[in-house]
Amino acid sequence: MAMIEVQKLHKWYGDFHVLQGITESVNKGEVLVICGPSGSGKSTFIRCINRLEEYQKGQILFDGKNILDKDVNINTLRAEIGIVFQQFNLYPHLSVLRNVTLAPIKVKNMPKDEAEEIALSLLERVGIHDQAHKYPAELSGGQQQRVAIARSLAMKPKVMLFDEPTSALDPEMINEVLNVMKDLAREGMTMLCVTHEMGFAREVADRVLFMDGGIVVEQAAPDEFFRNPQNERTKNFLKEIL
Ligand code: ADP
Ligand code: MG
Repeated sequence: MAMIEVQKLHKWYGDFHVLQGITESVNKGEVLVICGPSGSGKSTFIRCINRLEEYQKGQILFDGKNILDKDVNINTLRAEIGIVFQQFNLYPHLSVLRNVTLAPIKVKNMPKDEAEEIALSLLERVGIHDQAHKYPAELSGGQQQRVAIARSLAMKPKVMLFDEPTSALDPEMINEVLNVMKDLAREGMTMLCVTHEMGFAREVADRVLFMDGGIVVEQAAPDEFFRNPQNERTKNFLKEIL
């Protein structure tokens, strides 16, 4: 059974038909890279998956269950489907450690000691345990993004969504974030990553999806996708970014 099953998904912002029928299934442990021009609906698509956006037609199943079912708890859903944004979105008034422990304590009722122990090991895993007592503003962008990843991981997600996690970073910080994502991918995390980092796609993606105009125009394994794109729009897009 697929971990995520998206069936004929449509969304409108008012009159604007932003997602025009997306059907996609993601298996456990799969890593998808989603690319495409600005405005093609990439963010909207992945935000629908953890219910940050409403949609009007079609359905999304997570572990076989419709995410709009009455008995799906939205906090549980968002714990199980973590998301990392372009703009880190850390709580500026909380230390790094508290950013990571907040949700486990509040949403999962985890004892503080246990939450801190887990948080410190996650901060270690993303290479910044020595920053635990600083505030976000005292960290570099790359460090902040790694905190954001640790914060999502603290909820033990089954799926991670990434929405252009390196686009706001200075070039020298991009790799420290991509390396954390590559580790996650190799450890078997199910991931949907909106990114134009094609080196990342080549290294760890199982499939690359190209979106344009609210649909998935084409998709293939990275080798095939880069070597032999089929659609004119994909070819033009690749010409521009590679
Ligand atoms: P991408 O992530 O591929 O750049 P988005 O999903 O952010 O694309 O946006 C797709 C389209 O939907 C864009 O044309 C954008 O202007 C529009 N859009 C995004 N969010 C909203 C919103 N809240 N209200 C109206 N239009 C929106
Ligand atoms: Mg976007």
